[in-house]
Amino acid sequence: MNFELNDEQRMIYEYGDQVAKKYDQHYWLKKARKNEFPRALWDQVSDDGFIGLMVPEEYGGAGLGMTEMALLMEGMANNGIPLLSMVVGSTMTLPMIADHGSEAMKQRYLPDACAGKTLFCFAITEPTAGTNTIKINTIAKKKGDRYFLNGQKTFITSADESDYALVVARTQAHTEVASKTEGFTLFIVDMKAKGLSMTPLEMGVVLPERQYQLFFDDVELTEDDVIGTIDKGFEILFESLNPERIVVSSMCTGIGRLALNRAAEYAAERVVFNGPIGAYQGLQHPLAESKTQIELASLMTRQAAWLFDHKKSAGEASSMAKIAAADAGMKAVDSALQCFGGNGFTDDYGLYDMYSVVRLLKTAPINREMLLNYIAEKSLGLPRSY
Ligand SMILES: Cc1cc2nc3c(=O)[nH]c(=O)nc-3n(C[C@H](O)[C@H](O)[C@H](O)COP(=O)(O)OP(=O)(O)OC[C@H]3O[C@@H](n4cnc5c(N)ncnc54)[C@H](O)[C@@H]3O)c2cc1C
Repeated sequence: MNFELNDEQRMIYEYGDQVAKKYDQHYWLKKARKNEFPRALWDQVSDDGFIGLMVPEEYGGAGLGMTEMALLMEGMANNGIPLLSMVVGSTMTLPMIADHGSEAMKQRYLPDACAGKTLFCFAITEPTAGTNTIKINTIAKKKGDRYFLNGQKTFITSADESDYALVVARTQAHTEVASKTEGFTLFIVDMKAKGLSMTPLEMGVVLPERQYQLFFDDVELTEDDVIGTIDKGFEILFESLNPERIVVSSMCTGIGRLALNRAAEYAAERVVFNGPIGAYQGLQHPLAESKTQIELASLMTRQAAWLFDHKKSAGEASSMAKIAAADAGMKAVDSALQCFGGNGFTDDYGLYDMYSVVRLLKTAPINREMLLNYIAEKSLGLPRSY
């Protein structure tokens, strides 16, 4: 067993430290508070070749794997610059196109996306279906050689900045299919297509990326827009779930580590009675516990990424990593906030805003309860509860 990163992996992990010299947490926070896409940071990450990290080199990517993507995201989050757009784009959509798209599709979309010139959002959630994806109603009905897409999606991150959306739709109604996971198709939809409209959601969470409702009214598509096979989209979709969990875990452990480092530094210097507040066990122990939990979650995240890269079953490890990382991230930011006293709630320190991000990641993209359901059923063999 070798826990050491190789030189390339270390360079990728430390990239966050480098890019943050130019675009640091203050930059991210300024953008997040204005709900403004961090374009300059995005362009920098693109120029440095990291947007297409998991895409093969022949299509403009770096040809690396899940481990490197997790390291990149953790390294950036360590510096307070978590990018949700890289979860939906770089981690979920681009590898999916690379793995399952037609040759023409790969040539058409991947080089520009890897170069950061075009953005993809990922649209699966619907207001009525929620967590129960099987219940989605957005449907692309075939007429002649065309498909006409109708329906609605919600909470779609960066829809306004995106050139394309990966839309999960039905191509057969619930009643027409033998198995409940059949009849789903993945389409690439041009955000400028006729019949597509969007409205922004007013969110409380502090993020630079905005969320949107998307409405499809007879949006015309062809088979060229399909990723993989018609009606068989669910299998492909399943493959993207573990990567999503893994990078979200990386974001949580990174944010938690940032909070703890800041708190330790502050607590070592701040004196209100005799000696620094960091000498009080009441503050030390929550920080030390959080540090332990963050590093445990980080290890589990790396294991999940390793399993995924080695084409081994990664569902259990990814789910456990995501639960542990979100919990550890929240506890870390909470413990750090306590050290900062009133300063924790000021704009200057920006810690309170990070709490909203890790708290979000307990619920989205997949909620904690569904992951516990998975572990109860798959790891412990208990009956399915829902
Ligand atoms: C900031 C943000 C960004 C997002 N970005 C995207 C995006 O880019 N693309 C996209 O498609 N979606 C996106 N989402 C949607 C997100 O994935 C969903 O909010 C999430 O899947 C939960 O769905 P829901 O909100 O409808 O909650 P519901 O399905 O209504 O669930 C509510 C709660 O019920 C509980 N629950 C539900 N089912 C079970 C069960 N079986 N067992 C136990 N408890 C259960 C959970 O605690 C859950 O939190 C985003 C959401 C947010 C808030």
